Amino acid sequence: MKTICTEEMKAMLLFIADRVMESKPMLTEVDSRIGDGDHGIGMETGFRAVKEVLSGEDFDTVNQLFRQTGIAMLNSMGGASGVVFSTMFMGGVKGMQDTSQIDTQAFADMMSRSLEAVQKRGGARRGDKTMVDALEPACAAMSEYQGGDFGEIFCRAAEAAQKGVEETKRYAAKFGRAKSLMERSIGYQDAGATSVWIIFRAAADWCLKKEAEEA
Ligand code: ADP
Ligand code: MG
Repeated sequence: MKTICTEEMKAMLLFIADRVMESKPMLTEVDSRIGDGDHGIGMETGFRAVKEVLSGEDFDTVNQLFRQTGIAMLNSMGGASGVVFSTMFMGGVKGMQDTSQIDTQAFADMMSRSLEAVQKRGGARRGDKTMVDALEPACAAMSEYQGGDFGEIFCRAAEAAQKGVEETKRYAAKFGRAKSLMERSIGYQDAGATSVWIIFRAAADWCLKKEAEEA
């Protein structure tokens, strides 16, 4: 798949929403080891709101779609992760020319701007044991990829994010509830990074499903 139009992007975001909501028990479990165990609840709440907003409206541009996704998360989730994950979706469309379809290059550029916005808002850097540890390598993998295929770019992003999740086990937390545990948070993966991996894996799976249907 070389380009994704607004309607397809909406279907992909709804697919991602379902996947994140199904992952609630896993995210709760991950967050309860070193956080306060509410990350699964927060993400489920956020993506339930996204589904409501996206299902009830038609969108003309990819820009609107991502902006409304971010706004739905921001309005429903609350807390640090509400700001951070809504920015992951809406930070990249800021300043982007309105478009009704997008290619892998433009998508990679959009996600890089999102990463920048997340870091500007939250102040976390690689190694602080946050979702940035998965988002940054995922964005780097996407920017490096020149092949133009969406299934492939999302597979690479998911793989990079998964490695990033593994790396968070080695870090001591500097943000969120896990911060109070400091060195004791070492050995456990970060919940938000796990969500980033789930999101990119779901995007890849949606593309593979779509390609299989069309073959
Ligand atoms: P809370 O920490 O308020 O309980 P959640 O449990 O929903 O919120 O989310 C925790 C996740 O949010 C962390 O695992 C981390 O990945 C992410 N996070 C928290 N603060 C930041 C930040 N400043 N920058 C980036 N990610 C953050
Ligand atoms: Mg929490």
